[in-house]
Amino acid sequence: MNTEELFKKIIAHAKEYGFIFPSSEIYDGLSAVYDYGQMGVELKNNIKNYWWQAMVRQHDNIVGIDSAIFMHPRIWEASGHVGAFNDPLIDNRDSKKRYRADILLEEHLTKIEEKIEKEIDKGRRKFGDTFDETQYRATNPNILRNATKAVDIRTKMNAALAANDLDALKQLIIDCEIVCPLSGSRNWTDVRQFNLMFSTQLGSLSDETNTIYLRPETAQGIFVNFLNVQKTGRMKIPFGIAQIGKAFRNEIVARQFIFRMREFEQMEMQFFVRPGDELKWFEYWKTERLRWHQALGLGHEKYRFHTHEKLAHYANAAADIEFEFPFGFKELEGIHSRTDFDLRRHQEFSGRKQQYFDPETNERYIPYVVETSIGLDRTFLAILSAAYHEEPLENGEERTVLRIPPALAPVKIAILPLIRKDGLPEEAREIMHTLRRQHPCQYDEKDSIGKRYRRQDAIGTPFCITIDHQTLDDHTVTIRHRDTMQQIRIPAGNIHPYITT
Ligand code: ATP
Repeated sequence: MNTEELFKKIIAHAKEYGFIFPSSEIYDGLSAVYDYGQMGVELKNNIKNYWWQAMVRQHDNIVGIDSAIFMHPRIWEASGHVGAFNDPLIDNRDSKKRYRADILLEEHLTKIEEKIEKEIDKGRRKFGDTFDETQYRATNPNILRNATKAVDIRTKMNAALAANDLDALKQLIIDCEIVCPLSGSRNWTDVRQFNLMFSTQLGSLSDETNTIYLRPETAQGIFVNFLNVQKTGRMKIPFGIAQIGKAFRNEIVARQFIFRMREFEQMEMQFFVRPGDELKWFEYWKTERLRWHQALGLGHEKYRFHTHEKLAHYANAAADIEFEFPFGFKELEGIHSRTDFDLRRHQEFSGRKQQYFDPETNERYIPYVVETSIGLDRTFLAILSAAYHEEPLENGEERTVLRIPPALAPVKIAILPLIRKDGLPEEAREIMHTLRRQHPCQYDEKDSIGKRYRRQDAIGTPFCITIDHQTLDDHTVTIRHRDTMQQIRIPAGNIHPYITT
């Protein structure tokens, strides 16, 4: 199965088992907007909780807030979003499809990198054990030509983006002979800037002065509450403020399922530090955040850092944690050293001081900020796609199993009476009654036990408890493990300690 087929299967599975539905489906959907179903909302809440536990509960010096989605419009002028939160877009005249110019170029670069990788695979096959990849990269003419080409394109693209030179971006697309994936033509319009913020009207008047925006990031709600939290919480630098909430972006290239949505959720933490300490904390948070991801157990090799060469106007260091989605390595979380840009701008635009008095140095200053910003939906997709497995069974059938980290699984325990009579359902419900206080449980008595196991595998339930006639005699049950499918018999009273150790 190629990666495209796999991705399609994951999307279909997410719908079939109540994880994710296209929004407004009976009206043919709304592009790049999705609803989370009965299983999805549980997984999503568990991810939020896992993040909140690690960031807020486990740190004395990090607290959370929940700020409003609507904010004063001047905030987005101060943050730079009104002036600079733009994507360069280009249309293909034949297909009438709109693309992000930088993404077209990135995809072109990925193709060149794939060519290089293919060449290396060829070399590896040819030379076997004696293959020296470094030497091969440095000497093979095809690799050298493609590597030089890629560096040249990237340099030109970064320069054009940094200078906001839209003509140069278009020229680069033409020079690279990039065609529209739909029409196959090179009939491109000029590149234009497009602001990603959604706007709406506050109150009943619809004039300019009432225009407000749906926040494109949760971070600004933290910045404008920095002093409120610092003073009321008597916080001492270094300290952090965390928030989970919706953000909205009118994305041009809205595809790849929940990877790029127009309405999505972020989990952000702004860490306020002494000026000069920011790069130390930047490294600290890079390490901490990677550790958090790796603890999920999806495989260390699925993560990598991408350090930004082209920095946003507010940053003095930035790195992404990328995850290997079915469509390749892509950004999952951003870690940014944002200097004092945001607080300084809010001080300027609001006329209110945004300073901190440091009792240790007896100085007043605007703190520097290191931000960790992770997409909740992208984390969901990372877990879902790494968890999805199709496996052959001994009886020749196949099962689809979601190996969701047990702590995050929407249902932790399935309670299954072997048959629907002889008092087994009553006994099963009795057992569930005590367990459900601690764990999300699901009761199922319909169909054969095999079919019920399949259903639980498909939603990622780590443990299935079967209640049979022996249970009535000696109060033991069988417990089946999702991943190994092994079953053992244990006393019903030991289920909770068994699955929590
Ligand atoms: P990209 O380059 O992929 O557009 P970004 O660099 O604009 O992302 P940030 O502004 O750093 O993203 O936002 C922080 C995080 O929010 C991202 O790492 C990502 O996980 C998430 N995110 C951003 N845009 C979207 C979106 N449209 N849909 C879902 N998640 C998103």
